[in-house]
Amino acid sequence: MLEIIRIPVLSDNYIWLVHEPDSGETMVVDPAVADPVLAEAEKRGWTITQIWNTHWHPDHTGGNAAIKEATGCHITGPEAEKERIPTLDTLVKGGDTVRLGNVTAEVIDVPAHTAGHIAFYIADEKTVFVGDTLFAMGCGRLFEGTAEQMFDNMQKLSRLPGDTQVYCAHEYTLSNGEYALVAEPDNQALKERMDAVREAREKGEATVPTTIAQEAATNPFMRAASADELAERRTAKDNF
Ligand code: ZN
Ligand code: FE
Repeated sequence: MLEIIRIPVLSDNYIWLVHEPDSGETMVVDPAVADPVLAEAEKRGWTITQIWNTHWHPDHTGGNAAIKEATGCHITGPEAEKERIPTLDTLVKGGDTVRLGNVTAEVIDVPAHTAGHIAFYIADEKTVFVGDTLFAMGCGRLFEGTAEQMFDNMQKLSRLPGDTQVYCAHEYTLSNGEYALVAEPDNQALKERMDAVREAREKGEATVPTTIAQEAATNPFMRAASADELAERRTAKDNF
């Protein structure tokens, strides 16, 4: 069983520190920064051996160089973004596999937020690291891709088992949910989820990870019936 630790950094980023106890390997997903990650690993007596990047944005790769410098770790990320992530050692694309000790992740192409965005799906652990593609009740902005691509991404992710834990890279849940209530005012599951989210956020608690089943029930982007509907909702949320 993986141990997965949430490290909140910057205003709303989550870095995921992932330990595989059989091999002793420790991996970091999308390190925006280095120091809090190195401190957390040291506190736990873990040595960081790998970094996995989902996309090139600085709030996902900014800590790469310093963590590599401190630990000598190996960095894996999207082949399509290799020019924008000069620290990568291994380049991967959809269908490739990546190993962390005895655990294997499948790479899933999810372009749209950035052109080469990938997700890492660990079926045996019912875990997926989605970066800025899928959020609790939201999806990433379409900076380098189309609504059609994001619609395909949502369809792909929605086919994962419902109890898959979804590790997103930001705490955007409350503002996503406020918009979701406008998009689907009659969605009872959404109303109940928002009550729980408001309570959690008032106490300063994190609302991530989420699950595929929760998103299937409450996420207006995963629930969009067509690329056109997703596009409409994305534009509405951008201006919300
Ligand atoms: Zn991003
Ligand atoms: Fe981000």
